[in-house]
Amino acid sequence: MFKRILLLNFFSSIVLMTFAQKNAEKEKIIASIQGKEANYAKIAHQIWNYAEPGYLEVKSSALLQEELKNAGFDVKAGVAEIPTAFVASYGSGEPVIGILAEYDALPGLSNVDEPEQKALVSGAAGHGCGHNLFGTASVAAAIAVKDWLKSSGKKGTIRLYGCPAEEGGSGKVYMVRAGLFNDVNAVLHWHPGNENSAGITPWLANKNAKFRFYGVASHASAAPEKGRSALDAVEAMDNMVNMMREHIPSDTRIHYVITHGGEAPNVVPAFAEVYYYVRNPQMQTVKEIWERVVKAAEGAAMGTGTRMDYEVIGGGV
Ligand SMILES: [Zn+2]
Repeated sequence: MFKRILLLNFFSSIVLMTFAQKNAEKEKIIASIQGKEANYAKIAHQIWNYAEPGYLEVKSSALLQEELKNAGFDVKAGVAEIPTAFVASYGSGEPVIGILAEYDALPGLSNVDEPEQKALVSGAAGHGCGHNLFGTASVAAAIAVKDWLKSSGKKGTIRLYGCPAEEGGSGKVYMVRAGLFNDVNAVLHWHPGNENSAGITPWLANKNAKFRFYGVASHASAAPEKGRSALDAVEAMDNMVNMMREHIPSDTRIHYVITHGGEAPNVVPAFAEVYYYVRNPQMQTVKEIWERVVKAAEGAAMGTGTRMDYEVIGGGV
């Protein structure tokens, strides 16, 4: 929850500093981070090499926790019942400012640390979008703020949230549900990219699920009449949703992949699965469209003589 008045107090105390003072403080903080560049580069490389996918970031999480503990943070590990999630705090009272850190890798993207596609471990996970830098730099920022709090004698709490499973898995959703952000005044987030700037692009609310269809297997040539194809149900659902695109707000995004489509052409597939995302700037619109997508799945099951269930993977509201 934002506590605007407190935030205003916090920021106005900064505004009251002269421009020159502010710049000098800023330069000092930047210099303190740059002075530890070799150490942070080592940590980022280590997390790159660990390349642990969502919820399995055991070594990456422990390494960042250790760095924060050594810097004087109070670290609580295994928060929100997630072994690789943690909260590191320094200081006391308000404002409470949070910085998010992510450190999970992506499946199948293992690579040596060179700008060419060359697997470090063939088929293993890898850091496709730089979460090794993400986790490390967020920790560096938190430590720099802590140093500033200490040297300036200002009141306030800096909190580093170690957030697992960003790349599918919605780690932060569970952390929010566990109330870990209830007393925070503001949360800062960033992502590695090819330029240094503040992003002004609003992002989209997202709900996603795996729709599973259960049919009846049969020989596709000798006894097709005895079969009920789960893949037919997936295709019917996809057709209905694709037709629906004309009748939904145009800023919506719907995308899917068929994650299981059967075993062989001569066997009527008894099981098929399709993974859907629905996105829109407004969560309420996502909810409304989501209900229609579920109806399409139910209709597809009914029309093909199959059974359907679905598992919400992310954005389960
Ligand atoms: Zn990323």
